[in-house]
Amino acid sequence: MMMTEDISKIVELLQSHGIRITPQRLTIIQTMMKLDHPTAEEIHDELENVYINISIATVYNTIRSLKEIGLVREINCGEGCTRFEIIDDSHYHLICKQCGRIDDIHFETDIDFAAIASASGFDFKEENIEIYGLCPQCKN
Ligand SMILES: [Zn+2]
Ligand SMILES: [Zn+2]
Repeated sequence: MMMTEDISKIVELLQSHGIRITPQRLTIIQTMMKLDHPTAEEIHDELENVYINISIATVYNTIRSLKEIGLVREINCGEGCTRFEIIDDSHYHLICKQCGRIDDIHFETDIDFAAIASASGFDFKEENIEIYGLCPQCKN
């Protein structure tokens, strides 16, 4: 989970990429930080709950531009299911194929993506590790 103070770092990141800081963008970012791996619809619903009127299209567009600058990670949680998170620390995901639950997993040693990129010759754009299975509840 990201702390609210980190919002100033996020603002710097947006500015360094020439993205205008609008109240709508900041509200969407703060809502994403509050929710646990939300879908775009969940972000939109949460905004409605607190009487903030931002269209679902704006939510999607904002997520897309935040993803482009590496602030947001997209998580594929099964058929037609896409969840998002603000990238804070390096962690990866265990995803339940039945109920869609997502748990964060941390590796003791950070994966050296730069080394993998140079060995493979790939220019990495996104670095995700997703492991699919059944959570303890669905297993029983
Ligand atoms: Zn499950
Ligand atoms: Zn996560």
